[in-house]
Amino acid sequence: MAICNNCGKQMPANENVYRREIYSGQTKRVNYGKRITYGNSTHYTVKSVCYDCASAIDEARKRTNRNVIVFFLLVAVAAFLFYISKH
Ligand SMILES: [Zn+2]
Repeated sequence: MAICNNCGKQMPANENVYRREIYSGQTKRVNYGKRITYGNSTHYTVKSVCYDCASAIDEARKRTNRNVIVFFLLVAVAAFLFYISKH
């Protein structure tokens, strides 16, 4: 019997196990070199999750992608308007 790594639900043997990347934390690094630099890295690990969590993760990812597309569209429109106003 597999256990969902996201919600901890036990999955029956006849239920599909889904593999999804799960956000597993962020590390903050401070390097004291010639100058002090800060590094942030986000970690994702592939884990087995139940159907509910897999679809929730897919939904969240879709929403993120859409936000990125909207953002670039807005930038493109802004650049276009700026270009028009200059001519
Ligand atoms: Zn789950």
